[in-house]
Amino acid sequence: MNRFSETLAAHSLSLRHTKTEVLQVNVGKLCNLACVHCHVNAGPKRKEIMTRQTIDRIIDWFVHTEIPTIDLTGGAPEMIPDFRYFIERVKAMRPSRHVIDRCNLTILLELGYKDLPQFLAGHEVEIIASMPCYTPDNVNAQRGAGVFDGSIKALQVLNSLGYGTHLPLHLVYNPVGAFLPGPQAELEADYKRELKKHFGIIFNNLYTITNLPIARFASYLRHNNKLEEYMQLLLDNFNPATVSGLMCRNTISVSWTGEVFDCDFNQMLNMNWHDGNGVLHLWDIDPAMVENRKILTGSHCFGCTAGAGSSTSLRCVPIPATAPSRRTSEPSRKPCGRGAGGSICRKFLPPVFC
Ligand code: SF4
Ligand code: SF4
Repeated sequence: MNRFSETLAAHSLSLRHTKTEVLQVNVGKLCNLACVHCHVNAGPKRKEIMTRQTIDRIIDWFVHTEIPTIDLTGGAPEMIPDFRYFIERVKAMRPSRHVIDRCNLTILLELGYKDLPQFLAGHEVEIIASMPCYTPDNVNAQRGAGVFDGSIKALQVLNSLGYGTHLPLHLVYNPVGAFLPGPQAELEADYKRELKKHFGIIFNNLYTITNLPIARFASYLRHNNKLEEYMQLLLDNFNPATVSGLMCRNTISVSWTGEVFDCDFNQMLNMNWHDGNGVLHLWDIDPAMVENRKILTGSHCFGCTAGAGSSTSLRCVPIPATAPSRRTSEPSRKPCGRGAGGSICRKFLPPVFC
């Protein structure tokens, strides 16, 4: 039993799948950016991308289910050659399914992608976009020079197409450093005020996400001698009220090769679903057999249950009044890095950055 399972058991909790509501597909590790917090280790030189053959096998499986939503992530999912083909096939299903694109915004300005916003709008694709702050310094520190300006421009393009009004556009905040996110409602109000005032940008919701100590963010913590301290912060802020809303409960996560996992984080840690013959692919799974399946956990799971959780719940999650400090000794970088308190109203959102 790992430390996370022990903690669940100590609170008389267990973690099992419920009915599947979301098929989250990580189409690969290729990305135009290489952010310091990336849990996928994505970047421009990565070669792992989903083939059309794998897309077809996923569609053939998906069409026989009643799962209402498909959530495309990466990397920059838009960069795989068959991204539009994938969406067109999903939208051609009857009944049609809801599609989410995890977008880093800057990809929409790259050569070869400039008509993508129109394509996404035309297919009524929901956009969940990474935007770690409403000021340039924090965004550029985490995502690279010039990313803030590019993100602003892309948001303006999306707004001009109806995103933020009649098409859903949500932003995702994650801390620029080894601390937990501040209160979501407060940050959302700040984002809305600042982005509207300075750039005329509107969006629907802001989701706050805790950085999980895996992949590139774990290396960053290790390099700065902060891994243990950060893990302790997550442990100290364990909130049992988050467990019933964790995304792994109603999601199936699929890799670019079609392998199946409980979530995108487990995917990056190679915590595959197995049977007696080896790793399972989506097309090996009977959707009816997923419900009540035990979820594989590890110490990284404390990242999803710290404080108010990682925007994974469907309801208001109270932060315990006794919760210890939400920061390591590293001072947060204001703005976009304040401490927490109160409760946070949340909608379901898998805790994935892009
Ligand atoms: S965090 Fe998102 S945008 Fe940044 S490198 Fe990773 S996948 Fe790309
Ligand atoms: S990392 Fe989070 S979403 Fe994944 S299995 Fe653990 S608790 Fe669930």
